[in-house]
Amino acid sequence: MSQTTEPRNVIVIGSGPSGYTAAVYAARAALEPLVFEGSVTAGGALMNTTEVENFPGFRDGIMGPALMDEMRAQAERFGAELIADDVVEVDLTGNVKVVRTATDTYTARSVILATGSGYRKLGLPREEELSGRGVSWCATCDGFFFREQAIAVIGGGDSAVEEATFLTRFASKVYLIHRRDELRASKIMQERAFADPKLEMVWNSEVASINGTDKLESITLRDTVTGEERVLDVTGLFIAIGHDPRSELLTGQVDLDDDGYVLVDHPSTATNLPGVFAAGDLVDHHYRQAITAAGTGCAAALDAERFIAALD
Ligand code: FAD
Repeated sequence: MSQTTEPRNVIVIGSGPSGYTAAVYAARAALEPLVFEGSVTAGGALMNTTEVENFPGFRDGIMGPALMDEMRAQAERFGAELIADDVVEVDLTGNVKVVRTATDTYTARSVILATGSGYRKLGLPREEELSGRGVSWCATCDGFFFREQAIAVIGGGDSAVEEATFLTRFASKVYLIHRRDELRASKIMQERAFADPKLEMVWNSEVASINGTDKLESITLRDTVTGEERVLDVTGLFIAIGHDPRSELLTGQVDLDDDGYVLVDHPSTATNLPGVFAAGDLVDHHYRQAITAAGTGCAAALDAERFIAALD
């Protein structure tokens, strides 16, 4: 196990839009950041999608992985050091922050947490392969691609009903598929959904299979009461069954809310621990967009820069 002796100025944990943006700003401030990108998921959530049409600066859109390659290259151009490894343990409580991978230990005066959150999946075959090809977890991101098409939304909580209602702006038909015969969503959301002529409730149903080779063609639904199966022709499937912050590392370190998201002192990105800042979807369960993650990544780097300047 190796141990670096001189603490770095900044360690960034995470390599999505928030982590790479923090790295660009910290590198351009001559803080020589070290970025842990993760071993299998470097580049973050946008590596699992196709076209991104709402990130400013790309008028014709850009593929998600290409956008992340650009951010990565931009961080490297200014001297950020990138390590494609997972952080497995941290001790952020002292003046010198300790960050460990499976093989090495690193220290820093400040740490930016940017590990994002994960959308819950159905766990079905074809789900991952058809992500960005009809299967989506984000109505704001992808609704526009489904104009005049029939689509399905899975879930029964507020976010599923909100997404289904939002998607009726684009789709010719939206099926809201729920395992039970009543929704968990708030009454006002339900009333709005039931009044929408384009939205059809499909009760007591779960997805048995996701069908399609290069793109989604249909889903097979199973009746949760009778077990009967039927095929529903849809070109879009929005999975809205929740999301979880990647904050397991941080339990007992920084303050988290009841759902495990990192609490920060808004409008700054400061956590309860001096020198520890957090950005992106690890903090934000409200907007969850690449541009908002990049924005808070920028803020975290500026906060870290000021923190370090005050130490010197
Ligand atoms: P993430 O992008 O989730 O990145 C965090 C990364 O940190 C992880 O992937 C991993 O590489 C790394 N990491 C995690 N834990 C560790 C660890 N212990 N050690 C080291 N590294 C670690 N938004 C839009 O604005 N437009 C879109 O069109 C759009 N499309 C989307 C399509 C899909 C399929 C999905 C899932 C999301 C989409 N989003 C879109 C949302 C957007 O991707 C997220 O809001 C954004 O990526 C969040 O950025 P982030 O930096 O906070 O986290």
